[in-house]
Amino acid sequence: MAEYENFNLKARDDRFFRAAESVLKNYTITRRKKFEKGFVIFDITGGTSDYVVKIHPEWLVNPQCSCPDAEQRAKESARGYCKHIIAVLLSNEEFRCQLLEAFL
Ligand SMILES: [Zn+2]
Repeated sequence: MAEYENFNLKARDDRFFRAAESVLKNYTITRRKKFEKGFVIFDITGGTSDYVVKIHPEWLVNPQCSCPDAEQRAKESARGYCKHIIAVLLSNEEFRCQLLEAFL
């Protein structure tokens, strides 16, 4: 398995799989009407805990999630792209290009 600095292909692919198999199928993703400091906010509910994903529409900063994976393991191995961020990006066409960061 190829492993690059700060990046791990299996870690990324595991999170894409979990985004599609668990988040998109079983969780609820709700987009808030109000922006917060320039970010579009999504509430992720229906999992063991609720989390918040923040997407910057102009991609000035990478997407952020309040879950522990985004703060720790995903940060070390998948550029912080946890399954919640991936699910939000997959389900919102206007932000889908921000998935690119996970492939570069
Ligand atoms: Zn997350």
